[in-house]
Amino acid sequence: MQWVSWIQKVNVVVIRGCNDHELVDFARYARQKGLSIRFIEFMPLDSGRKWKRGDLVSGREILDRVNKVFPIYLAESSRGRETAWKYRFVDGAKGEIGIISSVTDAFCGACSRIRLTADGQIRTCLFSTAEYDLRGLLRNGGTRSEIIGLIRSAVAKKELGHTINTNHFEHASRSMSAIGG
Ligand code: SF4
Repeated sequence: MQWVSWIQKVNVVVIRGCNDHELVDFARYARQKGLSIRFIEFMPLDSGRKWKRGDLVSGREILDRVNKVFPIYLAESSRGRETAWKYRFVDGAKGEIGIISSVTDAFCGACSRIRLTADGQIRTCLFSTAEYDLRGLLRNGGTRSEIIGLIRSAVAKKELGHTINTNHFEHASRSMSAIGG
């Protein structure tokens, strides 16, 4: 079978006791529709700050639970620049399972992401506690070189990664819904 790289993706944040009973249903849906269902570990980016480690369903557990019903195999030996480990169905069914283990198998070391929020703030990590005010600079007539300077200075301060697995974890200054993707 020839594999297509433009497969449509559906992201599913898995939360224990909320939607983890649907893992196999989602995998079945991937097979029926030829989709990539990407299961994402739940991270402490919720607006209510109610995240508890017990809410997390690890990528390993997700893999085991799907594999038990629909055997899957690792499709590529490296994540490359992507965040998901990709799995395909042993029986050759269409579709793909992606597992994004953002907490238990973080990929921060390979991260080059910088985000611009809808209100014009540069964020250098999902878990940033500081932002860089690009909108303010633009509205105040910032020159091209000032804009480049702001972006360069933000990039230079990019975090090494999240600290969820340490005892000095600090919540991000915005929740995921306020950051946007
Ligand atoms: S460095 Fe920040 S934005 Fe990049 S992968 Fe890690 S947590 Fe996500």
